[in-house]
Amino acid sequence: MRRRGRHLHYPGLLHQLYKLIRGSETMLVRPAEPFPLVTISCLQADMEWAREVKAALEETWLTLPAELRAHYEAVLRRMPPMIVIEVRRRNACTCLGHCHPRGTESRLARHLRDLSGVQVGELDLAAEAIREWQPAPLAGMAASAAAGPDAAEEFQLFRFRLALLDVLLHELHHLAAPDAREVEVRGQSGKFYEEGLDAFMRQRFGSSYGLRGSV
Ligand SMILES: [Zn+2]
Ligand SMILES: [Zn+2]
Repeated sequence: MRRRGRHLHYPGLLHQLYKLIRGSETMLVRPAEPFPLVTISCLQADMEWAREVKAALEETWLTLPAELRAHYEAVLRRMPPMIVIEVRRRNACTCLGHCHPRGTESRLARHLRDLSGVQVGELDLAAEAIREWQPAPLAGMAASAAAGPDAAEEFQLFRFRLALLDVLLHELHHLAAPDAREVEVRGQSGKFYEEGLDAFMRQRFGSSYGLRGSV
């Protein structure tokens, strides 16, 4: 677990919280309901990756159809009031993301819990690894071809942020339901990704990319 050598020893909850989150290595994110409050933490050098996670939560999430977002309503309603997301380029364990089981939270998460008095959930996201990840490769290739070269950059940015949401929601599902089977959790996040991609293509280009129903 990464140590950051930050010490807090002054009184006053709001003051402490403010001091904790205003530093350049943390940012507070307020995604739309029913998401909990999110504190993103990262190394200074990884701020751009952290900003992508923030944009995915605050912007991309809201561009998705309400019925798609509703698939995660039950998971999100079971979240503690605050989530800490540690954003890195890569996770030491090489996975795309993992949640911290209760009792293994970072010092930041424990500080936030102690300061606020509310439960704090925590997970790690490996942003660069997620950008390189190609979930549903056939659907991705078909959508990329349908978007064409002129929209390639816009498409890749959306695809990256959708993949960030996919991994994030997958891990929140594990936090909400620690006993849920991996096949079930993965099935739901995989479906979320494919349907999110399809919705983007329909909204942005006015057509489906042609793979749904044929695979
Ligand atoms: Zn891991
Ligand atoms: Zn999983």
